[in-house]
Amino acid sequence: MGAIIDGKRISDSLKEEMKAQVIALEKQYGRRPGLAVIIVGENPASQVYVRNKVRAAEYVGLRSVQITLPEETSEADLLAQIGRLNADPAIDGILVQLPLPKHIDEEKVIDAIALEKDADGFHPGNVGALWLGKPCTLPCTPKGCLELIRSTGVEIRGALAVVIGRSNIVGKPMAKLLLDAHATVVIAHSRTRDLGALTRQADIIVAAVGKRNVVTADMVKPGAVVIDVGMNRDDEGRLCGDVDFAAVKEVAGWITPVPGGVGPMTITMLMQNTIESFIKRESKTH
Ligand code: NAP
Repeated sequence: MGAIIDGKRISDSLKEEMKAQVIALEKQYGRRPGLAVIIVGENPASQVYVRNKVRAAEYVGLRSVQITLPEETSEADLLAQIGRLNADPAIDGILVQLPLPKHIDEEKVIDAIALEKDADGFHPGNVGALWLGKPCTLPCTPKGCLELIRSTGVEIRGALAVVIGRSNIVGKPMAKLLLDAHATVVIAHSRTRDLGALTRQADIIVAAVGKRNVVTADMVKPGAVVIDVGMNRDDEGRLCGDVDFAAVKEVAGWITPVPGGVGPMTITMLMQNTIESFIKRESKTH
């Protein structure tokens, strides 16, 4: 039976380190890192995500600002709000919770966030820098997944990694991070022929699809590291991932549970990104 990668425990211990770091930063620079989270509308899932992010920010001692705007907020008003946060010296990280209402152009909104305050790492400037191998803010979910893979001690260099999913926020940046860590990377997606033939060779599998049971036990090489990004509901309405956890954990060497795996790490990486932005901004002025 494989070992469980306890994302909750790892993220809790990172948050404790950050708590101490924030106290030290406040002593050094006279202020705490500031994170602004904007939510537009009343999507219940988004409300839960935002609440968890604000709670984590408060826990590590960040100055957190939650801006809740009504569903009918115009694109211009949202852009103006972002403009104000861009100009606010007490704010180091800005996050706009996605998805946005249909009348608002998400791309325009992400582009409007100042590059150095892009806490989610979704700004084209950060995406471009990532692919060019330049310093950048990394997107939180793949950054957290890499931490989880590293926590196993399994060597990434030279490993065959199969990333299932090619979204801009998870699959593609995940593949690039694994490539940078010297894995040989295959990116699979909905048109991939014989996914199992690929995953059976993989030392590392990252599933970021959004469908239950995309990865079953017969698709996993004994001892492989399996990271489950998916967030789905089972027939009883319980949260589950893309991986058939009960069966795959018998084959895998390491596996993340859902919940308690990637989810808590994503939020913790957002805190880390905000602290990193703070340090970059403050070290420019000191
Ligand atoms: P997305 O934009 O919908 O992308 C899903 C990807 O899966 C697409 O590239 C799609 O291929 C591929 N795919 C669909 N069916 C497939 C199949 N049968 N076999 C192989 N590939 C298939 O989703 P996302 O935003 O990347 O998110 C993926 C999942 O992760 C969702 O469940 C989401 O809720 C979850 N998530 C969790 C966190 C967290 O913090 N835990 C963060 C972000 C996302 P095509 O490109 O060909 O369509």
